[in-house]
Amino acid sequence: WKNAPATMREVFLVGRSHGAATFLVYEDDRATFEGFARATLVLAERLQQQGVAKGDRVAIAMRNVPEWPVAYFAALLVGAIATPLNAWGTGNELEFGLSDSGAKVAIVDAERWDRIEPHLPQCPALERVFVARVKGSVSNPIATPLTDVIGPVNGWSDLPARPMPAVPLDPEDDATIFYTSGTTGRQKGALGTHRASISTVLASSFSAQRNFWRKGEPVPKPEDRKFQRAVLLAIPFFHTTGCQAILCAAVYGGTKIVCLHRWDVEQAMGLIERERCTQAGGVPTIAWQIIEHPERHRFDLSSLESVSYGGAPASPELVRRIKEVFPLSAPGLGWGMTETSATFSSHGGEDYVRKPDSSGPALPICDMKIADDAGNALPPGQVGELWARGPNVVKGYWNNPEATAATFVDGWVRTGDLGYMDEEAFLFIVDRKKDMLIRGGENIYCTEVEDALYAHPAVMDAGVVGRPHRTLGEEPVAAVTLKPGQSVSEAELRAFVGERLAAFKVPVRIHFNAGMLPRNVNGKLLKPEIKKLFPQEAA
Ligand code: ATP
Ligand code: MG
Repeated sequence: WKNAPATMREVFLVGRSHGAATFLVYEDDRATFEGFARATLVLAERLQQQGVAKGDRVAIAMRNVPEWPVAYFAALLVGAIATPLNAWGTGNELEFGLSDSGAKVAIVDAERWDRIEPHLPQCPALERVFVARVKGSVSNPIATPLTDVIGPVNGWSDLPARPMPAVPLDPEDDATIFYTSGTTGRQKGALGTHRASISTVLASSFSAQRNFWRKGEPVPKPEDRKFQRAVLLAIPFFHTTGCQAILCAAVYGGTKIVCLHRWDVEQAMGLIERERCTQAGGVPTIAWQIIEHPERHRFDLSSLESVSYGGAPASPELVRRIKEVFPLSAPGLGWGMTETSATFSSHGGEDYVRKPDSSGPALPICDMKIADDAGNALPPGQVGELWARGPNVVKGYWNNPEATAATFVDGWVRTGDLGYMDEEAFLFIVDRKKDMLIRGGENIYCTEVEDALYAHPAVMDAGVVGRPHRTLGEEPVAAVTLKPGQSVSEAELRAFVGERLAAFKVPVRIHFNAGMLPRNVNGKLLKPEIKKLFPQEAA
């Protein structure tokens, strides 16, 4: 990497050099890279006037709108710690993020403002809130409409050119607090440095190229591309993957980002066609919805070069279906977590087709081990906890020394995921430690049972959980969504799984769900919700 960036300041400068190319598309709003850069510098100046200095937290709570990247980069350029909050959170959840981080400034959209305003007394550190997309006026003296500072999106290219803030940044400076998804308990704020962010930007740019590689062909160079890379963004900016692996890599690489107001598969396909998107995906369920949509053929999706996803278990069936449906596009899968600044392992190209149930090798800059509880590495093939380390691993949890001490050990992060490595050091995730169930002393990995269900041609979505059992402890039960127009009985499906897995792993009950299974915005199954579908039966 010639002239590789050292901090997000350099990533921003590279982004600015993409000039008049389109960067952000959202409904009728379009912004070029130059417009984005101008708006960012104007907002950065305003943040400094507000007294935001190095290390202060700037919270961001908006849906995927063009103002989001502007807020994020403005915070980074003035040396603040950008603190994205889950936009789908309730007032109480947003209050938790604001007060836990001690944010001095928040940049929010009108919907979030309505939820936050009643909670302001619990956020004493907050000195100003910039509100984007206000209809009418904001009366609270703490609030300023964001358009008073940067104007409407379509006018950003005409904003005055402001200088870069004179704030020296160091790779080891704190840059971000991303909250974990809260799948296994209360959300934790992962505190990352500029170095961690940069590592993800570079690694994502590298794997985006590598995934198209086929044996015997040279790795394509960015300048050989016929048209601009464009991502259909189906995951939130506030998650580390949407922000660091997609948004920040797009700033660096000159990629257009197409945002949706909310996920809608038909609208998404229409936008892929209209904007000639080269990349789509995000999480496995989204890829499934596109592939299995009965009206897919109405849309021209031929621009898609890659369908990639991560963040949740992806069935090996998915890669086979992608190869069938989009023979020319490269499937890609990553394993990662908020604590590793998004991607940690990356799987793509021929390797993924060869090992469809793996999550790929660790990125070249990362190191992993499968370990016992004491941290001793286990041999290939043996299941244990995945431990991860590398420059993309965060420093620890903000404001949470107990969780930090339990999770970050001797430079490693204990991931809480169970898996094994094969002889080629490819990672295979088998389950989360907390999801694994034990039936009469036998381990059952939910993901393995889910994969067996996915292998049935009628199954679109599957989730396996444990149901309490008086003598066995727990037994597996499943919730399933069928593909449109398909049918299969519970007995047939149980028999199908029984041909693939030992009898004790076959779900004792299968619930057929009308819609997609309950998932959070990051595509993760809400296992407690699935458990509620199975009232406990007398054993
Ligand atoms: P919390 O830590 O608050 O309980 P969370 O772990 O869901 O929430 P994230 O950091 O968003 O929060 O998610 C990381 C987790 O997502 C990983 O630990 C893993 O369980 C899961 N995951 C990510 N990628 C994959 C993948 N490719 N295959 C299986 N699981 C994955
Ligand atoms: Mg986690």
